[in-house]
Amino acid sequence: MLTVEEAFDAITSAVEPGPVESVPLAQALGGVLAGPVDSTIDSPPFDKSLMDGFAVRAADLATGTARLVVVEEVTAGEVAEKSLEPGQAIQIMTGAPIPDGADAVVRIEDTEIEIDDEQQTLVRIETRPVSAGQDMIQQGTSMRRGDAVLKAGRRLRPQELGLLAELGQHTVGVHRQVTVGVLATGDELVTIDRQPGAGQIRNSNESMLAAQVRACGAVARELGIARDNPEDLAAKIQVGLDCDVLLLSGGVSAGRLDLVPEQLEAAGVNEVFHKVKVKPGKPVWFGTSRDAIVFGLPGNPVSSMVCFELFVRTALRRLAGLDPATPSPAAARLACDFEFRGDRPTFFPGQLECQPDGPLVTPVNWHGSSDLRSTADANSMIHFPAGDQNYQARQWVEVHEWAGRA
Ligand code: AMP
Ligand code: MG
Repeated sequence: MLTVEEAFDAITSAVEPGPVESVPLAQALGGVLAGPVDSTIDSPPFDKSLMDGFAVRAADLATGTARLVVVEEVTAGEVAEKSLEPGQAIQIMTGAPIPDGADAVVRIEDTEIEIDDEQQTLVRIETRPVSAGQDMIQQGTSMRRGDAVLKAGRRLRPQELGLLAELGQHTVGVHRQVTVGVLATGDELVTIDRQPGAGQIRNSNESMLAAQVRACGAVARELGIARDNPEDLAAKIQVGLDCDVLLLSGGVSAGRLDLVPEQLEAAGVNEVFHKVKVKPGKPVWFGTSRDAIVFGLPGNPVSSMVCFELFVRTALRRLAGLDPATPSPAAARLACDFEFRGDRPTFFPGQLECQPDGPLVTPVNWHGSSDLRSTADANSMIHFPAGDQNYQARQWVEVHEWAGRA
């Protein structure tokens, strides 16, 4: 039986980043950058003023006080015609290029305009001693042409899109969104709009797994219920294999009607692993065919949910080209004492909160893998390593947050 870490490795080796497409920036939010981006420009492209005020020669303002002749005005989008001589100033607006000869800006609040006897415009400046570079930003300060600015595998947020726009990149190469089929299995299942009869339950896993898929930024295709017989399973697996990823729920344990592994093999899906040392979710099955990646998730709802968060999420991150592909846990303190009993590493539903003195997590009152209800009080899972242990309140534990994007 594989460990969770070995299962992560098996998934990341078996799954390659998916195909790349070029999309307009307006459609790229949330996409994953397919290749590195180097700057094609200096930013800012010229030395520019950070203030409304006067471009000056710092040498004229070594004491902070001067009376200078105003020879021109330059606004953002213009370039000064004159070059600044000693004793002169050019009125300048935020964003305008620093004129030749100037090497600092004095903000307008520290100045006063005067007209002298010869009708010349003068600016009287009273401020602290001015040094070169004051209130201006030099060309290329934030990036230079040729600088590496974004790495492949980055999820595109508003700031990355703004940066690409600044570089003039109006389209961007991202990994194509994948389609994930969700197929529930079980003779006991009825659709969610029906009243279950004796021995029956509603198919809640399909709605939950499809939502987990969508929360990851992938497209979910709900494929309904396959019955626990070879013919129905085989037919519905065939339909599901048209998707990039197929998730089945149920039918992977040791019961007489747990036919999913053999039907997947019969459909040409090769097993990579079956069973992982984890609780809940031990019977999880993973395999690949020529065109699809397939998970058989245990039917108990919390097992399905946890196996999705650990293993399917890893595969979707890898397909999406995200780096790193494996989910990264956070550290939090336990809110209360907790007696852990278990011989398998356990992912236990918890409620994680940001407290002023750091993250705090409370294990919820969970009754095991069929108890989905208590997960509605949780936003994360606490990872308790195998082995009985009495944890103390405020002890550090590892926590994985749920239901974010992959
Ligand atoms: P299985 O893995 O098929 O042995 O199912 C384990 C348990 O999960 C059984 O109690 C099933 O009734 C339940 N179960 C299986 N599939 C679903 C589903 N789609 N929605 C809710 N519960 C399910
Ligand atoms: Mg079943």
